[in-house]
Amino acid sequence: VRVHNFCAGPCTLPVAVLEEVKSELLDFRGSGMSVIEMSHRSPEYDAVHEETLSLFRENYAVPDDFSILFLQGGATLQFATVPMNLLREGERAGYVRSGSWGKGALKDAAAWGEAYAAWDGEPFSYTRMPSDDELQIQPGTRYLHVTSNETIEGIRMATFPEIDVPLVADMSSDYLSRPIPWERFDLVYGGAQKNLGPAGLAVVVMQTALLDGSGPGLPSYLRFGAHADKNSLMNTPPMFAIYVTGKVLRWMRDQGGVEAMEERAARRSGAVYDAIAESGGFYRSPVEAAHRSQMNVVFRTPSDELDSEFLKAAEQEGLVNLKGHRSVGGIRASIYNAMTHEGVETLVGFMASFRDANG
Ligand SMILES: *Cc1c(COP(=O)(O)O)cnc(C)c1O
Repeated sequence: VRVHNFCAGPCTLPVAVLEEVKSELLDFRGSGMSVIEMSHRSPEYDAVHEETLSLFRENYAVPDDFSILFLQGGATLQFATVPMNLLREGERAGYVRSGSWGKGALKDAAAWGEAYAAWDGEPFSYTRMPSDDELQIQPGTRYLHVTSNETIEGIRMATFPEIDVPLVADMSSDYLSRPIPWERFDLVYGGAQKNLGPAGLAVVVMQTALLDGSGPGLPSYLRFGAHADKNSLMNTPPMFAIYVTGKVLRWMRDQGGVEAMEERAARRSGAVYDAIAESGGFYRSPVEAAHRSQMNVVFRTPSDELDSEFLKAAEQEGLVNLKGHRSVGGIRASIYNAMTHEGVETLVGFMASFRDANG
């Protein structure tokens, strides 16, 4: 029996995709072997690799002058490789310290080069994103790094800053769930396991012109240009993750692509925020209304004890992985692209009955 899985990552995937993977596992397209047993230089795998790359570009409307890289190490490794590849001697990078992930990205950048907080959400207990005029950009700033969606605190950057320096974004938890203004970005990146597929794959999208001579002197795996030169086949890529991600991207395209995902995300998260608003104060969201995530809905009941009761009772209804991140507690419903309507409706119904029983 499939449960309604609200896990923040890795997350639920479309059942149709899982069924397809299952049916192809023993004998991939007449090869007599599975896709995880064959050479990454084989024509069969090459077709999968190319198709996943082109579906990513198509779904996300990635412009022709950007390169798409399939890497490993998750978003976390890119916290380091982004400054390694973009920052030069004498340059610095500004970071929006908007929550747990923005903090992590700044820390790793500062371990490599000169990086500073252009805005800090800590005094606001990470309940909102900055407005453009709150950003303090220092002279010599090469890029401003933002986290489009703070997965743990449930905060979203509803619009991206319009400033004089290029943007770099960690989009791990809202990748391909909203169109983005590519002309303002030098680079975006994210792990696949929040919206796109299994863990093990990170996707970096970078302006091709910037690859030339990026990160001189770095070991080859850390240099984005080295991966671009070999079409992300410099070494063995995470083949299974790329294969499943390709299927999820095809599923997305068939559902109407990124615009459809955005509309769906607004409607589904809206239904949960409505349930919070209509609960007469029983449920509370700590996040300012305009900055609420459409992917990770964070809320609380009147007490920690009731939060625990909620999680236990929800699990009995087949609503699982609703526990907030261990660092913030409470309840978090992650509603990524593949979450079903039925899952959200069941959650909203459960919230109402739990409040009636305990309010
Ligand atoms: C999950 C997450 C990360 C870390 O991703 P890994 O792939 O586990 O390294 C970084 N940033 C954001 C916004 C995330 O949601």
